[in-house]
Amino acid sequence: MEESLLTDAAVRAHRYRQSLPSRGVVPAGDAVEAVERLCGSLPEEGEDPSSILQRLDEFGSPATVSTAGGRYFGFVIGSSLPAALAANWLAGAWDQNAAVQSMSPVAARLETTALAWIGDLLGIPPTARGAFVTGATMANFSGLAAARHALLEAAGWYVEARGLFGAPPVTVIVGDEVHVSVLKALSLLGFGRDRVVRVPADDQGRMRTDRLPEIHGPTVVCAQAGNVNTGAFDPARELCEWAHRGGAWVHFDAAFGLWAHASPGRRALTAGIDGVDSWAVDAHKWLNVPYDSGVVFVRDGRHLRAAMSGAAAAYLPQSTLGEAMEYTPEMSRRARGVDAWAALRSLGRAGIADLVERCCRHATRMASLLRTGGCRILNEVVLNQVLVSFGSDERTRRVIDAVQRDGTCWCGGTVWHGTAAMRISLSSWATTDDDVDRSAAAIVRVASTTPA
Ligand SMILES: *Cc1c(COP(=O)(O)O)cnc(C)c1O
Repeated sequence: MEESLLTDAAVRAHRYRQSLPSRGVVPAGDAVEAVERLCGSLPEEGEDPSSILQRLDEFGSPATVSTAGGRYFGFVIGSSLPAALAANWLAGAWDQNAAVQSMSPVAARLETTALAWIGDLLGIPPTARGAFVTGATMANFSGLAAARHALLEAAGWYVEARGLFGAPPVTVIVGDEVHVSVLKALSLLGFGRDRVVRVPADDQGRMRTDRLPEIHGPTVVCAQAGNVNTGAFDPARELCEWAHRGGAWVHFDAAFGLWAHASPGRRALTAGIDGVDSWAVDAHKWLNVPYDSGVVFVRDGRHLRAAMSGAAAAYLPQSTLGEAMEYTPEMSRRARGVDAWAALRSLGRAGIADLVERCCRHATRMASLLRTGGCRILNEVVLNQVLVSFGSDERTRRVIDAVQRDGTCWCGGTVWHGTAAMRISLSSWATTDDDVDRSAAAIVRVASTTPA
């Protein structure tokens, strides 16, 4: 019974993945409406698992967005690598809780192994402490919580016990192009997202080092590697020199950008980033593992532990090595290290470098095909992000709508320095040269039939 159920799930999953190249990127309207067949009120009696799976595949699969395929270029979205997906299934069957080592020795050990491998690929000092969280938002939160602890401890204030009421003020400096997830993390941490000091950005969105403020008192500087629109990097070396001279903590939101370090051809972009105090990175973006997965690294792990440890409880282990839950916001958590371990193992150092380089090459190719087709590229394509204008803001928005309806590929919109733009993010292992060519041709065709 269970064997045929799990086999059926694998067969259906495989069929779904095989259908990706030939299906439209967004589901048809009637497919989305049909999801209602899965809803309604809670049934009184249980149902046979095999018919549940059959129903889920029949009405669920057609209503998915093909983010696992090669022609989804919205936001910054990876696809799960086959090895990572398969390992994720096995880990699902294991049903391990990765909160503490005694609950799952294998989850704990694969997590520390994957963290060490990721740190090595990304140029993080080996003495830094890493932890798996749900994504870059929580990685930003965790890194900034460590910063909050360190800065206030140095000012004689134990924030985890006493809270922020009456605490010495902490100045927060961000770039004008700060990602919204950092602002969200700041609001969750009681720093307030509106009391930040903003540093003006240049035409690519980088913090301007000629406009840095003076630093007084406890200060955290939030910079980024990989602007979500342009892919640009804040200058880590100059920022660290200035910030550390003033005794500030430097946090880098490096959600997808730090993966550039894994490719020798792009490594120069990350120069100096090994000198920062905390890093937030995603695994579910450029490492192409299943959701949800991200990593925080903190140079001095004591601060992360102090920020994340709860009060002692008699039934919870207190190991000298440190339990995962002492370094993360959660207690119970899934074994994220397993799928990351499998992804890293399946590609190896060379394969990761190739994945990053290939996505960057796709971005360059996309930009050049679109330029040839008469579109205007708004950014310097240094990484995997391309910004496109089709003339007026109004026309650009209409082209984006029409491209999304066309269904060959999916690209989102943004506003870049006051101008409407299409965003194209090349982040998936599954994207081929042919996907890029077909998508560029579709965008040019749609644009040519959109009135000025
Ligand atoms: C995607 C992204 C985030 C948020 O990451 P999640 O994994 O969605 O939480 C933060 N910063 C940057 C630069 C990003 O691209």
